[in-house]
Amino acid sequence: MNDANDITATAGTALARAQRILVFTGAGISTESGIPDFRGPNGVWRHRDPAHYTLQRYLADPDVRRERWQDRLEAARREHRPNDAHVAITQLQQAGRAPVVVTQNIDGPHQDAGTRNVIELHGTSREVGCLECGRRLPVDVVLDRVREGDSDPHCELCGGLLKTATISFGQNLIAADIEAAMHEADLCDACIAIGSTLSVWPAAGVPARAAHNGVPLVIVNDGATELDAVAEVVVSGRAGTIVPALVESIVAAG
Ligand code: NAD
Repeated sequence: MNDANDITATAGTALARAQRILVFTGAGISTESGIPDFRGPNGVWRHRDPAHYTLQRYLADPDVRRERWQDRLEAARREHRPNDAHVAITQLQQAGRAPVVVTQNIDGPHQDAGTRNVIELHGTSREVGCLECGRRLPVDVVLDRVREGDSDPHCELCGGLLKTATISFGQNLIAADIEAAMHEADLCDACIAIGSTLSVWPAAGVPARAAHNGVPLVIVNDGATELDAVAEVVVSGRAGTIVPALVESIVAAG
């Protein structure tokens, strides 16, 4: 066995007896599906300025909104399939060991892989909401309007601004979602954090809470995280390779 296999086996041992594993994921789990993360070596922040992506700018500047809708159109042209890490998480759930997955991602491959009970702390890019009346629409309906030339679409009912149902910088999380995630952190008997720098708060407070409660925290990430010091095991490397091996060893342990 090489070092990576050794550490994955150690992580499997730490999780072998856990019956309610809280799976917490970040952008790094989706890079192998072709979706860039923010802070990894090929992350979006290497060539874009996060300050440009605040809710305040979106509200104030029609050009920012037009650019965002063009970004969404561009993203919709690419097909992103779940990768082996997403599939392995579904297998862990179907084995009865991970009833809830908490994700910071907005992309949807967990659900496409068949995972249920996904708490999307930062919302979803598959829906659009009216910032005035709260009406929700599938994103494709609004993208069709953008394709037809409506570059800054507004709500057809109340005239309010439309925005993908994601949490932007400067926007509060949905209280019920973060409360439900924290509740899971209190119920779980182990936690796996995958593909996240664990630097975005309050989301990172979920695995931090599990570790604080004294349950084993296993981190799988290709790079350092802010919670490495409180983890029981840190497995460095690609989620698409490590997570299937880890899940296989957990399920085999029964
Ligand atoms: P992050 O960009 O801060 O960190 C991602 C981490 O994953 C990095 O350390 C990176 O090196 C690592 N990584 C990249 N590929 C990996 C792989 N194949 N296997 C293992 N690790 C890998 O991401 P974050 O911590 O999730 O926080 C960023 C915020 O970005 C979140 O709030 C999220 O909403 C948002 N985001 C989401 C998506 C998405 O939905 N897919 C994409 C980009 C950003």
